[in-house]
Amino acid sequence: MKLIDPIIQFHAELQKIRRDIHAHPELCYEEHRTSDVVAQKLQEWDIPVIRGLGGTGVVGIIKNGNSGRAIALRADIDALPMQETNTFPHASKHEGKMHACGHDGHTAMLLGAAHYLSQHRQFDGTVYVIFQPAEEGGGGAKRMIEDGLFEQCPVEAVFGMHNWPGVAVGTFGVTPGPMMASSNEFEVTVKGKGSHAAQPHKSVDPIMVAVQIAQSWQTIISRNKSPLDTAVLSITQIHAGSATNVIPDDAKLIGTVRGFTTEVIDLVESRMRAVAEHTAAAFDAEVDFHFKRNYPPLINHAKETAFCVDVMRGVVGDAKVEAQVEPTMGAEDFAFMLQAKPGCYVFIGNGEGEHRDIGHGLGPCNLHNPSYDFNDDLLPIGATYWVRLAETYLAKT
Ligand SMILES: [Zn+2]
Ligand SMILES: [Zn+2]
Repeated sequence: MKLIDPIIQFHAELQKIRRDIHAHPELCYEEHRTSDVVAQKLQEWDIPVIRGLGGTGVVGIIKNGNSGRAIALRADIDALPMQETNTFPHASKHEGKMHACGHDGHTAMLLGAAHYLSQHRQFDGTVYVIFQPAEEGGGGAKRMIEDGLFEQCPVEAVFGMHNWPGVAVGTFGVTPGPMMASSNEFEVTVKGKGSHAAQPHKSVDPIMVAVQIAQSWQTIISRNKSPLDTAVLSITQIHAGSATNVIPDDAKLIGTVRGFTTEVIDLVESRMRAVAEHTAAAFDAEVDFHFKRNYPPLINHAKETAFCVDVMRGVVGDAKVEAQVEPTMGAEDFAFMLQAKPGCYVFIGNGEGEHRDIGHGLGPCNLHNPSYDFNDDLLPIGATYWVRLAETYLAKT
């Protein structure tokens, strides 16, 4: 591994920052302390900042030379609404909130890169370091863009990175094209007519209709979409009724739909609506159909992905970069940034969990697990990747 020496020297400081943020997790759009910590560090290192984009977003501007060229590097800063079971000293001090996705580490790695880039300035152009709020379901990337992110920071390309547990430290993974899924949610209410359970002929039983709809929806996956396309339709909640002897008025079906193209999501949504409405009509019931698009699929651009593969190989060696990594059905709002600008999102191996301090919760070190902790060994690796990416993309001529 070819890590940058001054970044290795800075490891202890980065770990201190990372653990401080880990101990003080904040949820979607409430990242006031985290945002202050980030802005304070950047300013301490003579990096001008823009604040307020997406509410609690922070952008640092590192400029050098005369070139008008610019790129953006993005980290997310928010935590999750869950209780941490770790008891080591940097465990969450905020009840019911936890950095279980490693955004504390993403923030620290990007701060490490910003510190080095501002001190050494071996590039020609502008590097914007974006600290984005509300990745976990809040669509903070979208809000920053709507607030004028790319008007204020006119970049050629934008880059992102996420730690990946279960994959060895010192490795990277990426793939061109779709790498993470579009996530969407639905809530469908079947409206029937309640009655005494002993007099079903006087009812329009919404439970029977809901069950028919639930069964038929799976044929969208098996019969309507092409077998070569990927999509998931999971009903995760069915709610109806309150007594053993009452047929209720309505029943609710709630769940998620995921896929790797907008076309396949369009198809699934329109077939779900048709199946629900026509099935309900066949039983004299009605439906109230709600389908909400959350995050679009995350699609890496081919040219920028090839560029990132080269940069990663330069840092960890050819054998440690998986350039055709298997896509995941997880979703990520960096997808919005890749719709607005060319760019690439990569995974950095977080290890198997051996890095955790004594006092961890004994569970697996997976993302969104109460025993998770970001691996501090990644700090200089991720920061070096960011620096080499910026220095190569904006190379002095
Ligand atoms: Zn997450
Ligand atoms: Zn995450």
